[in-house]
Amino acid sequence: MIEINNLTLYYDEIKFFNKIHVSFPTEKMNIILGQNGAGKTTLLKIIAGMVKPDEGDIKTNNLKPFYLPQKINPVKGLSLYEYISSIYYRQDFKWQLSKEEKNKIISVLEELELIKKKDIATEKLSAGEFQKCNIAIGLLSKANLLLLDEPAANMDLINQIKVFDMIKKLKDKNITTIITLHDVNLAAHYGDYFVGIDINRNIFSGNKENFFNEKILKSIYNIPFKITNSHGEYSVQISN
Ligand code: ATP
Repeated sequence: MIEINNLTLYYDEIKFFNKIHVSFPTEKMNIILGQNGAGKTTLLKIIAGMVKPDEGDIKTNNLKPFYLPQKINPVKGLSLYEYISSIYYRQDFKWQLSKEEKNKIISVLEELELIKKKDIATEKLSAGEFQKCNIAIGLLSKANLLLLDEPAANMDLINQIKVFDMIKKLKDKNITTIITLHDVNLAAHYGDYFVGIDINRNIFSGNKENFFNEKILKSIYNIPFKITNSHGEYSVQISN
């Protein structure tokens, strides 16, 4: 378990999180839901160690985190392949890649169907292609705790499915993922465990059966929903 206990955080002298408790099971796909500004990115950054809380206790079980921000600017002048390779140079302070490392990059690019774009300058990739390229870096990293901030934001439906199918497989490699997401149906389809933050920063959490509950979703989004469950496949609709 990743555990956050009694956590308080101030932003500009205003209490943002007030003694919150939240935990995430390891080796699962965890999804954080909430309205814009609810604090999803803040929570990810706290787990990544990038935002230091004012009080509280965070236990990450010594997992090695990799945080993928919501928005990254392309690096001008670098091709997709060079950009991805640079992560190895950076993390290991080296100038050359081994054959094995090169093959690993190629196989991830093939899996994400980016191989044909490998020599294209990063600034010329579409937003979704560049996002996939950054997810490839997460998959190549040696981290076992992937913190992905809206990884599917710029992707079409097919690419969202491909990327989430890949992320799902990471559980078999003992990798824990915590993902922020706005699409509740995508969340219900792929997630194992859910954390919701409402606008008053109350935390709701649970597995699919507990969390996909009309009352909980209404508290988080402040609008009514209708949830149907067909053989374990949850479908969430806005209810008027
Ligand atoms: P979105 O869905 O829009 O990405 P979010 O749930 O990820 O939103 P956060 O990025 O965590 O929300 O931000 C929550 C709130 O905290 C926002 O109102 C934001 O402006 C504010 N905030 C974030 N970082 C800081 C900071 N360093 N100092 C002050 N306020 C901040």
